[in-house]
Amino acid sequence: MSRTPIIAGNWKMFKTASEAVSFVNEVKGKVEVEGVQSVVCAPFTALPALAEAVKGTTLKVGAQNLHFEDNGAFTGEISGIMLNDLGVDFVIIGHSERRAYFAETDEIVSKKVHAAFRHHLIPIVCVGEKLEEREAGQTKEVCRVQTEAAFKGLAASEAAQVVVAYEPIWAIGTGKSSTAEDANEVIGYIRGVIRDLFDENTASQVRIQYGGSVKPNNIREYMQQPEIDGALVGGASLEPASYVALVEGAK
Ligand code: PGA
Repeated sequence: MSRTPIIAGNWKMFKTASEAVSFVNEVKGKVEVEGVQSVVCAPFTALPALAEAVKGTTLKVGAQNLHFEDNGAFTGEISGIMLNDLGVDFVIIGHSERRAYFAETDEIVSKKVHAAFRHHLIPIVCVGEKLEEREAGQTKEVCRVQTEAAFKGLAASEAAQVVVAYEPIWAIGTGKSSTAEDANEVIGYIRGVIRDLFDENTASQVRIQYGGSVKPNNIREYMQQPEIDGALVGGASLEPASYVALVEGAK
């Protein structure tokens, strides 16, 4: 089963709407790389302008969060209905920063994954261990629990569309990346968890990215690994030239 790799930029809390449009104007025509899906996940405020700017290109737009309800008295929140209405295609769910700073639990992640599917958004679900968990030899166990929660209650047809981002927390924004071999092993393990929950065919369709200090100079090492289907990239996705180099490197 050949899977189309995804290079997803996670801009975090960077870029105004006008900065996002300038970015698209710079990368336009350079990220239409055969066999690679390019996505940028922007702050909510930049999404309308971004969705407009990418029209006519193959670049897709993602959000970085959504609420699990469709609407209601949830001051300050944004729902899947609203994202879908803007033309957003992807949404990051359960990023470690949201788990750490916004008390996002596995249960909330599961509800958000269901909300994404209700509104035709592809979830990019983040899983990964903390440094102390890695040192205690708990990496696979942590990833198994998070993966099982994220896929809970999904139909196999939905599960096959989920994108998982394996992001060891100690590698995010630190310049310390996991070796490609280690990342491949954990990602292969995660695919096995999905196979146990569903079946071989479903697991073979799920795209599983690596994330954590991916740069233009190390993307190829990850992409050479059989289990790794692209990357979720923070810092190195902000500069147009760097982002283009990442997409090129995923060919
Ligand atoms: P980084 O962030 O590429 O800056 O390490 C990755 C992420 O948080 O998704």
